[in-house]
Amino acid sequence: MNLTTASLLLAASLSLAACESKTATTGETDTTKATAETTLTDPATAPTSGTAATANDEANAVPAPDPSTIPAAKSRDAAAILARKQVPILCYHQIRDWTAKDSKNAKDYIIPVAAFKAQMKMLADSGYHTILPDQLYAYLTTGAKLPSKPVMLTFDDTDLDQFTVARPEMEKYGFKAVYFIMTVSLGRPRYMSKDQVKQLSDEGNVIGSHTWDHHNVKKYQGQDWVTQIEKPTKTLEDITGKDIKYFAYPFGLWNPEAIPELKKRGMVAAFCLAEKRDQQDPLFTIRRIIASGYWSAKTLHNNMVQSF
Ligand SMILES: [Zn+2]
Repeated sequence: MNLTTASLLLAASLSLAACESKTATTGETDTTKATAETTLTDPATAPTSGTAATANDEANAVPAPDPSTIPAAKSRDAAAILARKQVPILCYHQIRDWTAKDSKNAKDYIIPVAAFKAQMKMLADSGYHTILPDQLYAYLTTGAKLPSKPVMLTFDDTDLDQFTVARPEMEKYGFKAVYFIMTVSLGRPRYMSKDQVKQLSDEGNVIGSHTWDHHNVKKYQGQDWVTQIEKPTKTLEDITGKDIKYFAYPFGLWNPEAIPELKKRGMVAAFCLAEKRDQQDPLFTIRRIIASGYWSAKTLHNNMVQSF
């Protein structure tokens, strides 16, 4: 086995194990005050306005300013950010049917195709609108208005089925998503190619960074920041022709020391998993829940309501 193969296998096994035991369904223990901007209601009582046309019209009506145009003082106002109701953010990995080889734990990260379709349909039928990170940033920092029933869909680890299976399904409803790319995998079998990543970007989705090969951010020293953050950012900017501003921590793991390092390298916000946000820097610990392969659409909805 050569080194490249070894590192790929490592990355693959790491990424599958990525968010193990992080499917917590509970939200933060502090009860953040809900503001008037967003209301998350039960799908049973919500208007069923989830057609693609409506979703597009409403989402397009909301301008998303570039984060660089928002005063820095706003991004440092942790209390104001923490006081705003959280937007549900879902984290997906593989979208494919289970095989006999898939372990019990792995199935949390592998959503069978029919289950994914049912989840997307539930979101659309319940009137949810997908939002993108610039919209979330403007909302969290300035209270900018979001579409009704906002949700963010995120995909980690560069898996090919995100492009071939999830993308066309989301297209039916006018949904856009965020793809956090692990650059070591680009062009490898079962992963997306650079052209596919560019296409996602061109189609209005957002490309974010998920490091080079999925090593734990808490362990970086010196040159690791170049290898894991700077070079992958450059790679993704070359592919998309756009700034890369958003980051997802491998395994959802972060520490306070990592935050200034990410800021220095152009990131304006970073996404973790279901644990509590950092009280000083909530923009760099934006919470997501892993949509488990075991969940029905109804279970997903219950978790969205409870966790955020
Ligand atoms: Zn990952």
